Amino acid sequence: MPDSAMMSKNGMLTTIHTRISADPFTANYDLAGKELGRGKFAVVKKCIEKATRKQYAAKFLRKRRRGKDCRMDILNEIAVLESAKANPYVVALHEVYETNTEIILVLECAAGGEIFDQCVTDDGTAFTEKDVIRLAKQILTGVAFLHRNNVVHLDLKPQNILLTSARPLGEIRIVDFGLSRRMDNITEVREIVGTPEYVAPEILNYEPISTASDMWSIGVLTYVMLTGQSPFVGENNQETFLNTSQVNIDYSQDTFEGISSLAVDFIKSLLVKNPRKRATADESLNHPWLNSLPHPHSHPHLHARSASSLDEPEMSQSESEPESPA
Ligand code: ADP
Ligand code: MG
Repeated sequence: MPDSAMMSKNGMLTTIHTRISADPFTANYDLAGKELGRGKFAVVKKCIEKATRKQYAAKFLRKRRRGKDCRMDILNEIAVLESAKANPYVVALHEVYETNTEIILVLECAAGGEIFDQCVTDDGTAFTEKDVIRLAKQILTGVAFLHRNNVVHLDLKPQNILLTSARPLGEIRIVDFGLSRRMDNITEVREIVGTPEYVAPEILNYEPISTASDMWSIGVLTYVMLTGQSPFVGENNQETFLNTSQVNIDYSQDTFEGISSLAVDFIKSLLVKNPRKRATADESLNHPWLNSLPHPHSHPHLHARSASSLDEPEMSQSESEPESPA
C-alpha cells in the first residue's frame, strides 16, 4: 500500500490511519445488550470498554453485501470519520476491529438517539423553534467543516443526526458516512444515492453531485424539525421524486402556524432547485434566522394541537424556557 492518500475516481478515500485490530472485540468490550439502531447493512449496539468502563456505540458492518465485497466502502467511511476528527459535531471514532465477516467501528455513543424521534412525536416533546435554531447551527457547523474539507455526506436525514442527550436536549452528532464522498479528484458521481425524501433534484437528474446536495437535505431536515411533516413525501418513491424535482412544497400559514417568517425564509434559501443558487453552509450560518429570538413559546407541533393555551399572554410571561446547558 502506498503511503499517500489513495483515491479512486468515484471519490472514495481508502487509506486510513486508524489501526485495525484483529483482537476479538469481546476481549476489550462488554456488549451492553441494548441495540441502539440498525440500517441496511449495519447493526449498532451499546458497549462498555473493559479497561475504562466507558460507554461506546459499536457499529457492526458486514463486509459482503449482496454478494459484493464492500471492504473499500467501509475503509472510505473510516477515512471520512478520521478527516473530521477535529469537529465536535461529527461522531468521534475510537477504535476499529475486523473479523472474517465484519468490520466493527467503535464510536462515541450518542445516548440521546435520533432527532427523528423528536420530529415525529405527538406527546409535547417536539422541538421548539428555539431548539431547532440551536440544533440547525450545530448541524451547519459540522457540515461546513465537512464541505471545507471537500467531503459531501449525501445522506443527511433525521435518522443520521443523533443527540448526545434527549432530555435535557444536548448537542447533535452527525453519523453514517457510508455514502460520503470526497469532492476533489472526483470525475463522476452519477448515481441515485441517499433517501428519497431527502434527495436533491440534481441527483434525480443524474447531474454531478456537489456539496449543494447536502444543503438541500438540510432544507428538508429543517422543514421536518419545525413542522413534523416531510415536505416532499408522496404515496410512493415515484411521487416523492416528482414532488422533489418540481419543488412542490407547502409553505402555507396553516403548516407554519406559530413559526417565524425568518424560518420559512431560511428553508426557502435551501430548497432551491438550481444547486448553484442554493445557499452554502457558510452562507446559511450567517442567515438572520439563526441569530433571531423566536417567541419563547413558539412550539410548532404543539401549537397546532393546543393553540389556545399557548396563545395565552399571561403564560408566556410567567414561564421561561430553561436554558440549555452550555
Ligand atoms: P446505516 O449506515 O446502516 O444507516 P448508521 O450509522 O446510520 O448505519 O446507524 C444506524 C442507526 O444506529 C442510527 O440511525 C442510530 O439510530 C444508531 N447509531 C449509529 N451510530 C450511533 C452512535 N454513535 N450512538 C448511538 N446510536 C448510534
Ligand atoms: Mg443511517
